[in-house]
Amino acid sequence: MSTVTLALSKGRIFEETLPLLAAAGIVPQENPEESRKLIIGTNRPEVRLVIVRASDTPTYVQYGAADMGIAGKDVLIEHGGAGLYQPIDLAIAKCRMSVAVREDFDYAAAVQRGARIKVASKYIKIAREHFASKGMHVDLIKLYGSMELAPLVGLADAIVDLVSTGGTLRANKLVEVEQVMPISSRLIVNQASLKLKRELLQPVIEAFAGAVKP
Ligand code: ATP
Ligand code: MG
Repeated sequence: MSTVTLALSKGRIFEETLPLLAAAGIVPQENPEESRKLIIGTNRPEVRLVIVRASDTPTYVQYGAADMGIAGKDVLIEHGGAGLYQPIDLAIAKCRMSVAVREDFDYAAAVQRGARIKVASKYIKIAREHFASKGMHVDLIKLYGSMELAPLVGLADAIVDLVSTGGTLRANKLVEVEQVMPISSRLIVNQASLKLKRELLQPVIEAFAGAVKP
């Protein structure tokens, strides 16, 4: 029997994918937040979920270890998208990529005088392209988390990070000075799987597409 493996990350992507799975008649047998299992069965014997780190989702799908996955636009841009078919914007896990600085840093003035600023981010590719498109020279510093700390301790003048409510920025006396792009999560499909397992994957893709709430 041919099977379908869907890669998901825990947290908001898993939570917001549940209604889409339900629309495709798929119900997970366990909650990954409670169970420590990395492979989770569903009510459909031919469908299973694998729980991966958000930034690893495109890699599992690219190499065909998962037939499909759900990943943020941020993660997809940083990955590059090789070998991935990206049929639908699922309009879940919505937020934005933004530039933020300390309240007392005059970003507009720095841009105006063409200053070379230090920018810390987990999203190096997005940050590089953003500042290049503005014609700004920046020194990029790669971080893996808690980017808000960098401007507070003098590691960077600015950060490029995901923002939803802005609560974390406010709590750390940072301000959003530029929006880079809106972010949401997309369905991604391994290109070989799509050809070889089309009769299994196509109904899932269509059910997801029909359940998207813009
Ligand atoms: P970790 O938190 O384990 O370091 P991560 O930050 O990559 O991993 P999540 O925080 O679960 O993982 O984010 C997963 C995806 O959800 C991101 O790639 C992004 O597309 C989206 N996302 C991140 N932060 C927010 C947010 N504040 N609001 C809405 N969506 C978000
Ligand atoms: Mg996170």
